[in-house]
Amino acid sequence: MTPSSTFSLSNVSKVYSNGTVALQDLNLAVNDGQFVSLLGPSGCGKSTVLRIVAGLGHMSSGQLSWSHQANRRMAFVFQEAALMPWATVQNNVRLPLKLSGMGKAASNAAVAEALEMVDLTGFESSYPRELSGGMKMRVSIARALVTKPEVLLMDEPFGALDEMTRSKLNSDLLNLWQQKQWTVVFVTHNIYEAVYLSNRVIVMAARPGRVVADVPIDAPYPRTEDFRTSAMFNHYCRDISARLSQAASHHLQDNASSVRSPNVVDSLV
Ligand code: ADP
Ligand code: MG
Repeated sequence: MTPSSTFSLSNVSKVYSNGTVALQDLNLAVNDGQFVSLLGPSGCGKSTVLRIVAGLGHMSSGQLSWSHQANRRMAFVFQEAALMPWATVQNNVRLPLKLSGMGKAASNAAVAEALEMVDLTGFESSYPRELSGGMKMRVSIARALVTKPEVLLMDEPFGALDEMTRSKLNSDLLNLWQQKQWTVVFVTHNIYEAVYLSNRVIVMAARPGRVVADVPIDAPYPRTEDFRTSAMFNHYCRDISARLSQAASHHLQDNASSVRSPNVVDSLV
């Protein structure tokens, strides 16, 4: 844990009650203002990490430490927009403030500001069924931003969107991040998205879930469309893709050798 760390996870392991080792000995320190992606195949423990950071799940062993203040202002964005279908856009976004006891009049300005940030001014009275997938996700992001978080935890927020919508939301999110200087932890299994957005990509592998690489993306912001087609972008994507394949093939080799091992064979007989 360095002075500029927002939080750090030290030697974190998580075993679910059915025996699944979701995380083993994971170490990760995230610094103030960083945009960090957790990248890895389905089942490698990305959501488990995010839930532990959010305080939504317990770890089996290890430690989570926060700097500055014990309880940082945090917001969580899930893959599903999870909006209340019976409520307007405005009232969906208002929900966290309402739950914290804030009255309607007091929350109006914050709701308007959050909607403006995600470019949804004018849709206050719409219902979720009237919105496209991308707009629903914008509402979900506004609902997270309305609490004025310092730390934004996002679990595959754009995974269900088409490529063009995802790309637009990626650049809008980056613009906002540059203005607001949040610390972002962004979960994805999309290499291109991770490289485009992040100043650091944490590559994870499964069974057990662990960090296999911590790759700084040293490209300046703002990142334009030119960055997506640059040689540098391509280089990062290939490097990370190779690390993912390497981690997956080690896993297969480990399995193959353990099946051939005499001890294992003996124990099977
Ligand atoms: P990811 O988000 O990378 O897809 P998860 O963190 O959701 O991975 O899951 C990591 C591993 O833990 C997976 O093998 C998954 O099946 C398992 N897992 C997740 N949640 C539970 C749970 N509540 N009970 C048992 N196993 C779980
Ligand atoms: Mg997940």
